[in-house]
Amino acid sequence: MAESPAAPPGGKPLVVIIGGGPAGLCAAAALARQGCSVQVFERREHPDRIPSDAEDRAFVVGLNPRGRLALSKAGFDLEAFERPNSGVVAVRDVKALRSGKKQGGVRYPFKMLLGDRMSWVRLMLEQVEGMGLDITCTFNTACEGLDLQGRCASIRRGEGPAEPVPFDLLVGADGVYSKVRGSLAEALPPGQLTFSLEPAPRLYKVIRDVPAEEFGGGGQVSQFHSRAPGDSPFGRYENGKLCGTLRMNEKGWEGLHSPADYEALIRTHFPHFPAACVPQVAAQLAERSAHVASTRVSASTFHGPGVVLIGDAAHAVLPLTGNGMNSALQDGAMLGELLVAHGGCLEVVPAAFTAARKADADALLWLDKRSHTRLGFEGRWAPRFLLAQVQGAVRGALEGLTRGAVRPWVTSGLYESPDLRYSTIKRRLMIEDAATAAALLGAAAAALRWLAPRLTGAA
Ligand SMILES: Cc1cc2nc3c(=O)[nH]c(=O)nc-3n(C[C@H](O)[C@H](O)[C@H](O)COP(=O)(O)OP(=O)(O)OC[C@H]3O[C@@H](n4cnc5c(N)ncnc54)[C@H](O)[C@@H]3O)c2cc1C
Repeated sequence: MAESPAAPPGGKPLVVIIGGGPAGLCAAAALARQGCSVQVFERREHPDRIPSDAEDRAFVVGLNPRGRLALSKAGFDLEAFERPNSGVVAVRDVKALRSGKKQGGVRYPFKMLLGDRMSWVRLMLEQVEGMGLDITCTFNTACEGLDLQGRCASIRRGEGPAEPVPFDLLVGADGVYSKVRGSLAEALPPGQLTFSLEPAPRLYKVIRDVPAEEFGGGGQVSQFHSRAPGDSPFGRYENGKLCGTLRMNEKGWEGLHSPADYEALIRTHFPHFPAACVPQVAAQLAERSAHVASTRVSASTFHGPGVVLIGDAAHAVLPLTGNGMNSALQDGAMLGELLVAHGGCLEVVPAAFTAARKADADALLWLDKRSHTRLGFEGRWAPRFLLAQVQGAVRGALEGLTRGAVRPWVTSGLYESPDLRYSTIKRRLMIEDAATAAALLGAAAAALRWLAPRLTGAA
């Protein structure tokens, strides 16, 4: 390839990043800031735009304080993300609208930014290109494999032949179906890198740009919940437009074909959805196909010699915890921090990354699965779901009694405290779960002790 230098220019360490998504672009800025020469190769021709055949890439993603901190560590200007018409909106209020129940609401005690994935990538690309750092982004260019011994990636631009591109460090930021991960697993001795993929049991469709005057002011988000078809659509109001996704389990989509079918679904299960928007939303839903709402990825390690996996390529979770992109950004920023911590020695960064990140990535997967069960997606008789009901009632009472001073670990930990490790949150929740289970067993035993003599006496 013409732009691919055969040797590191000016003796700078050469970093090749596969994938120009949030993780790859954050890593590019973080590593170039530490003096690396960075090349990003992205398979898509226009990763910052929605091609007509890829509406699925326009789902709405929330940036919480974890992602914010990571982006600022990598040198991104967060204020620029919030300028008018950036495609990203700052949100404080979330209205939760449940069918058959009165309206609820959440006020985020932190700044949450919402935007579709394309907007995030566009905004990050603009900044990466304007940072004046040694970063080259090449699109329509895919990684096809790795030569670990020769430290070369096989890179194909468009329909052209694959060419070798040398690297000192290769960062696999190529998402759930990572080619880098697959090639690394093949190149390493058997068993060294094993991984599993677990598709979400839910499918989603994107809703875009529906005029929605009824939604009130900008920065307000409405979530529409329904138990019946399985899940909820999620809307946001920005510049008078409604964007979001409808997510349901497979059963929920059965028998839905025409706009009239979708109108009936919305009217029955999402009664709070503004009536004026229903025909347009229904028309969009009828014409688009449904996509798997992400896939869990669990890998035994995140590195091999000269290669590191980050973001969804290493540890993807479902959208439930709202931490997939945020943790991917943390990974990218962490590569820069590890390089500094190891005195600029790029060679040790991959192993150091696994050592620093594996426990937290495993904990995030655990939190993701826990949320899934606790929201009732695995049945209303699952022990974790029942435990969640008890804990919810106790927490609700405590929150009320302490006027909000006692708050759920998950909310405060996953979103508000950008430095709190996922593994710490997991440990606290395991203790809380064990304490609740023990209290419930104790209460059951006490009730039995009280009942038994009365029952035997009565007999
Ligand atoms: C419906 C939905 C809602 C979500 N909501 C949230 C949310 O609210 N909050 C949150 O934090 N996360 C959310 N997520 C998750 C979030 O989108 C991902 O975790 C995040 O995009 C991961 O970033 P990444 O850079 O690791 O991977 P990706 O975003 O998948 O980027 C990988 C990039 O690599 C490119 N690529 C792939 N293969 C190759 C190759 N061989 N060569 C070159 N390039 C390649 C791809 O084209 C892509 O651009 C949501 C996901 C979905 C599906």
